[in-house]
Amino acid sequence: MAKRDFYEILGVAKNASDDEIKKAYRKLAMKFHPDRNPDSKGAEEKFKEAKEAYEMLSDPDKRSAYDRFGHAGVDSNAGAGGMGGAGFADAFGDIFGEIFGGAGRRGGGPQIYRGADLKYTLDISLEQAASGFDTEIRVPSWETCDTCHGSGAKPGTHPKTCHTCNGSGAVRMQQGFFSVQQTCPTCHGTGKEITDPCGACDGVGRTRKNKTLQVKIPAGIDDGMRIRSSGNGEPGVNGGPSGDLYVEIHLKPHGIFQRDGEDLHCELTIPFTSAALGGTLEVPTLAGKGEITIPEGTQTGKIFRLRGKGIRGIRASYPGDLYCHLSVETPVRLTEEQKKILRQFEASLSQGGEKHSPQSESWTDRVKNFFS
Ligand SMILES: [Zn+2]
Ligand SMILES: [Zn+2]
Repeated sequence: MAKRDFYEILGVAKNASDDEIKKAYRKLAMKFHPDRNPDSKGAEEKFKEAKEAYEMLSDPDKRSAYDRFGHAGVDSNAGAGGMGGAGFADAFGDIFGEIFGGAGRRGGGPQIYRGADLKYTLDISLEQAASGFDTEIRVPSWETCDTCHGSGAKPGTHPKTCHTCNGSGAVRMQQGFFSVQQTCPTCHGTGKEITDPCGACDGVGRTRKNKTLQVKIPAGIDDGMRIRSSGNGEPGVNGGPSGDLYVEIHLKPHGIFQRDGEDLHCELTIPFTSAALGGTLEVPTLAGKGEITIPEGTQTGKIFRLRGKGIRGIRASYPGDLYCHLSVETPVRLTEEQKKILRQFEASLSQGGEKHSPQSESWTDRVKNFFS
């Protein structure tokens, strides 16, 4: 079974605070504690799962590694390749064991596994998402250990054939009526046993380094979209193919615009005098300054649409629109003189018999009808 996302296990958001993570874990731990569910295997699994998720997310280093690279970033088994491919083999043995391992077993050799996929989270601005850009990212990579040349055995010694599986990399386990083939727990599928591990790589045969990758971010990309970099994931086990690297886009919040697919939204505030008298108003767009015409008597909540001033999606032929949501502001800190002018103005409104406040007057009528 594939490993579940730690945040999903705890039921918290990706940006949850330490406190929220702790609370969520306590709740789950109380619910699924083995003492409370003595006969439930499912509860015990859930308890263990929550405990692991909490251990990872409550440690700032592990959490940031997990956020960047997913399970591969924090799983000491994954990424170790060779000896330590167990995390991956356990998780995907069912699927890839059939594809790659089958052939290997027929020949009596060790099992072959595809490397795990890696995830890299890239924070970008709205402007970068709209125009696209080229960037470089640093990702983990693995190199054959210089000391043991990949064998994992101390120089001068040699790996032995695994005594548990006789080099096949798999063992048969009897579970009730069923006989299940599993990855060998001693050699983790490599078929070899290292009695004297290499000191430089702890017997893994590979050392972890970083490499720089060029990534092209296409214009129009949106939050949560992923770009696949083929073959840049973890190396495979026993010559299996490498996994892929997924660059996941995280859009940083913008000071002015909110994005909704290809459309943008922004808030505009104007004084009540401008709203009453009308005029033109300069508005920000991603492409620079734009202009809207405010008609006389504009009310708060009015939305102005600027066609084509949104974002052109990756596969779209036309850009979306920009919606400006208008609010009318009440003036504050008036002088005595200004208040006097406003009172005169108010008095002039009540003469002449015109309706000057369409919304509040119809509201007043409704209240009157309600009480009568
Ligand atoms: Zn080594
Ligand atoms: Zn073995």
